[in-house]
Amino acid sequence: TMDYGPAPEGAAEALAWLVDGGDRFGHFIDGKFTSPTDGFESRNPATEEVLATLSQATPDDVDAAVAAARKAQAKWGKLPGHARAKYLYALARLVQKHARLFAVLETLDNGKPIRESRDIDIPLVQRHFYYHAGLAQLMEAELPGHEPLGVCGQIIPWNFPLLMLAWKVAPALAAGNTVVLKPAEYTSLTALRFADICREAGLPKGVVNIVTGDGAAGELIVNHSGIDKIAFTGSTEVGRKIREATAGSGKSLTLELGGKSPYIVFEDADIDSAIEGLVDAIWFNQGQVCCAGSRLLVQEGIADRFYAKLKTRMDGLRLGNPLDKCIDVGAVVDPVQLETITQLVTEGGAEGEVYQAKCAIPEQGCYYPPTLITGLSPAAKLMQEEIFGPVLVGCTFRTPAEAVQLANNTRYGLAASVWTENVNLALDIAPKLVAGVVWVNATNLFDAAAGFGGMRESGFGREGGWEGIHAYLKPARITKPLKPITAEAKPEELDV
Ligand code: NAD
Repeated sequence: TMDYGPAPEGAAEALAWLVDGGDRFGHFIDGKFTSPTDGFESRNPATEEVLATLSQATPDDVDAAVAAARKAQAKWGKLPGHARAKYLYALARLVQKHARLFAVLETLDNGKPIRESRDIDIPLVQRHFYYHAGLAQLMEAELPGHEPLGVCGQIIPWNFPLLMLAWKVAPALAAGNTVVLKPAEYTSLTALRFADICREAGLPKGVVNIVTGDGAAGELIVNHSGIDKIAFTGSTEVGRKIREATAGSGKSLTLELGGKSPYIVFEDADIDSAIEGLVDAIWFNQGQVCCAGSRLLVQEGIADRFYAKLKTRMDGLRLGNPLDKCIDVGAVVDPVQLETITQLVTEGGAEGEVYQAKCAIPEQGCYYPPTLITGLSPAAKLMQEEIFGPVLVGCTFRTPAEAVQLANNTRYGLAASVWTENVNLALDIAPKLVAGVVWVNATNLFDAAAGFGGMRESGFGREGGWEGIHAYLKPARITKPLKPITAEAKPEELDV
């Protein structure tokens, strides 16, 4: 009955899976789905249609998931790395096999353009599992004397639903941990389909458990005494609460939070490339990207020309049905987010000049036009706060020193982009920027082998690469018994 216009490959399979699932889903605990309860609805933000009814995790559900994870961890953590690698390879291959289905499902649930879910999100998910399969295989050789943390509680956001799952689950499993993961309430469907893939891969039951629900379900995980580590990606506000809740609990913690990343364009930059980069930096995924280049700093001499070109480019962006592969900008994830963005721009934009792309906006659905706001003071709310939508704020600078000063004038520190043809300038500027990653003449580059994470209020800990795997390990305890020390013992006998 659903009409999504030109149906991309995988659409029929995704919709059939939804219908087969009865459109009602339970949690995935100990290798099977629990009976669904009518907790909350997941909607397609492009059409506002209900896609499925999901269950809200109760304390009993979280207890059961943690118990299953604990039981499974005893064996999973003792498997040699190459045995765990076998499962991670299987998961990677199965995501690859069902890539079209995952891409469509992600777009239906989140509203992101199919071109992005198909060409960026899902391929990165596969890469993450393949990469961590490789790391699992190398674990004993490269990280001797380490052991897994145990049971990990993982709470993820809605902007890259399956990719954030991969960022959490792959390293945890590679290192020998088991997980209880909660997807965001707006976007749980690909996580539930992933649970199916865990069964298909023959993953031992209890190694991956997925419970659905809102922040209250997240709190149950954070406060559960049977959990050894919390890994969270989401807002700085909730990250702060989680840090308080876990303080003194002995739980390990990594937080990947918000950002207001600077995008710095010098006079000598290749302007056309910088404009294309900017489209990617702020309009990729409707700007709902933690490391989005949401703060444009452009050198004074080229500012007028740059803004004029940017506005023309904005007008050319195609906004609409995210299942259409020609679309550049899809729907914002939920009416709540749409309302937040609208309100922020209405209130904060009045202090400056607001330019909105002249693109047609569908009457129905959570759409917000690409927006540029200039003329704000550096201290203005919109220059400082993460909008998490397709809204760019821009200001000018005169000297490199001023660029650095403006770029660092933020409480965040996740990412930064520097655009110049002068490599000496780029290499001088980059280390002065307070950011977890600095891209030169590029933006939004991700790789499973590179640690990603923030400074200041953007969080701490790294995800990806060897750095990321360390966040799921601890030094091994001594496992050989000590020989009793006697008066006659010679030093070489004190073998530990
Ligand atoms: P959020 O931080 O409220 O939600 C993220 C995840 O945390 C979700 O799974 C949610 O259910 C869970 N959660 C919420 N409250 C919790 C609590 N008290 N304890 C444990 N878990 C809890 O983010 P949001 O409401 O989805 O979005 C709000 C803002 O967060 C956005 O506008 C944006 O600024 C930011 N955000 C950042 C990222 C990122 O990647 N850094 C991603 C999504 C959202």
